[in-house]
Amino acid sequence: MRLKHIKLAGFKSFVDPTKVPFEQQMTAIVGPNGCGKSNIIDAVRWVLGESSAKNLRGEAMTDVIFNGAASRKPIGQASVELVFDNTQGRIQGNMADRTEVSVRRVVNRESTNTYYLNGTKCRRRDITDIFLGTGLGPRSYAIIEQGTISRLIESKPQELRVFIEEAAGISKYKERRKETETR
Ligand code: ATP
Ligand code: MG
Repeated sequence: MRLKHIKLAGFKSFVDPTKVPFEQQMTAIVGPNGCGKSNIIDAVRWVLGESSAKNLRGEAMTDVIFNGAASRKPIGQASVELVFDNTQGRIQGNMADRTEVSVRRVVNRESTNTYYLNGTKCRRRDITDIFLGTGLGPRSYAIIEQGTISRLIESKPQELRVFIEEAAGISKYKERRKETETR
């Protein structure tokens, strides 16, 4: 599974529609302080369902919407789309047979969030579901930031188990069992 590209519009500093392609050989994004490198990672986590403003380095969930600059007025909504290569079939569920999977999230100033899977409106859950067991989710190990490694080293056995279960592909079954038990 590979992230092919990301399209941002109105998300944090990316006010104008911007496409960031991730070519096969790409290993790093470099640039001066404040140019938006971390905003790209925030965007990935946000689309995958992140629901904590703090984890997105903001105070409110609407802080991800472009808030204006010296020469630009604030705008009304933020949108980010991730396009994944699924030729290896790692993304499961109703997207399993798709060679390309697009995931999009839009938010407006009223805090209304809309999610899309390959262009069709869906629930946040539909998105978190198809990535369970792939290592990619708002909090899983595909995104390792400053402090993640020390947190892992210092974590309690129960916390560490969550990562191991995700890597082993067990978490999606646990999640399903939890659902059936609460029904
Ligand atoms: P560093 O090298 O210091 O880590 P970086 O390239 O990771 O920098 P980011 O943190 O991605 O930089 O971007 C910070 C910039 O994004 C700041 O200039 C900040 O003003 C801008 N920014 C963040 N949120 C918004 C928003 N809602 N509207 C407009 N600009 C925003
Ligand atoms: Mg940064």
